[in-house]
Amino acid sequence: MVTIIRNAKVYQPEYAGVKDILILGDRIAAVGEDLRADFGGCLEVQEIDGSGMAAVPGFIDSHEHILGGGGEGGFHTRTPEAALGDLIRNGITTVVGCIGTDGVGRDMTALLAKAHALENEGVTTYTYTGSYQVPVRTLTDSLMKDIMMLDKVIGVGEVAISDHRSSQPTFEEFARIAADARVAGMLSGKAGIVNVHLGDSERRLDLIRRVVRETEIPASQFLPTHVNRNAALFEECLDFAAEGGTIDFTGNEDIDYWETICDEVRVCRGIRMLLDRGISSDRFTISSDGQGSLPVFNEKGEFQGIGIGKASCLLKEVRECVQKEGIPLETAVKGITSNPAAILKLDRKGRIKEGFDADICLLKEDTLGLDTVIAKGQVMVRDGEQKVFGTFEEHINHN
Ligand code: ZN
Repeated sequence: MVTIIRNAKVYQPEYAGVKDILILGDRIAAVGEDLRADFGGCLEVQEIDGSGMAAVPGFIDSHEHILGGGGEGGFHTRTPEAALGDLIRNGITTVVGCIGTDGVGRDMTALLAKAHALENEGVTTYTYTGSYQVPVRTLTDSLMKDIMMLDKVIGVGEVAISDHRSSQPTFEEFARIAADARVAGMLSGKAGIVNVHLGDSERRLDLIRRVVRETEIPASQFLPTHVNRNAALFEECLDFAAEGGTIDFTGNEDIDYWETICDEVRVCRGIRMLLDRGISSDRFTISSDGQGSLPVFNEKGEFQGIGIGKASCLLKEVRECVQKEGIPLETAVKGITSNPAAILKLDRKGRIKEGFDADICLLKEDTLGLDTVIAKGQVMVRDGEQKVFGTFEEHINHN
């Protein structure tokens, strides 16, 4: 299949001007002006009019519970799996699946099976090994073997710290996880990232900072997530980013509600603060926590109620950055494209450049609404309508 996108404003994510994008198979073959593709009629060339559109790289969601999560309110609050449409209808063409609180009812065998299923349906998938728990529950007999020998496993997580639901890992246990992930990543050419779930407690980043201070492991080995869950935690995470760490915001579709019950930092506000402090725009990512349970606890840690993370928040957060905070699109969109690609070492992802995978979203320039999604060269969404469906998805459009 050959596709040419004509006259789109191309964000690589750096703004590159109005350009055509030529896609051959699953790769971007060229980005330039007035591109021509003539195969003497032996290959069909599909043309997409990109005028009035911003072409941005397909979104990378670096933390999503594709398998569903355990519910902290009992078995009936277990959350459902992600369907293909939950990803592509929200511009996500690459997802990193993870297991959260429940590492018993959900395990690595099922997570990897789910990741393979979504890959077969047309997107790119990876996973972390483990869950909240320490010792890490792996597929093979070791964390290092999982990262080195399982193609889809690019790191470990989400290991929970500073949370009443964590395994309360000791410093030594936590440092060993980071050390093993680091060496396994080096030996297999992967990131070996440690995705760390940060809870609400006042210990905040303590364990991560101790590892960076007291061992040879650098801050770049960690990707702490939920950094914006409260203002005090976020302050400390800004310091971590200023010192060369990368921090992962968790998007929130219902922030107007959550802002009233806890002091969660709105993503666009947090990114504005990061930029205003002169911290590099390479130092943040945004993930959805999609399909994860969102329990509400009172101050005694008692369960009050539950919601579910939505993958739609990624684009919504980028839109709020642009529309509420005046952050340039090329800066905001880095958090879901080139930044996660760099920290997770996804070499052909996150950029609209020759040789990269043909993962592209077309956004309407005025509203930043999603018009078209292309994953590995295949048109998944067109004119806002889902064109490719998961095996058991109903053929209905929700937009
Ligand atoms: Zn988490």
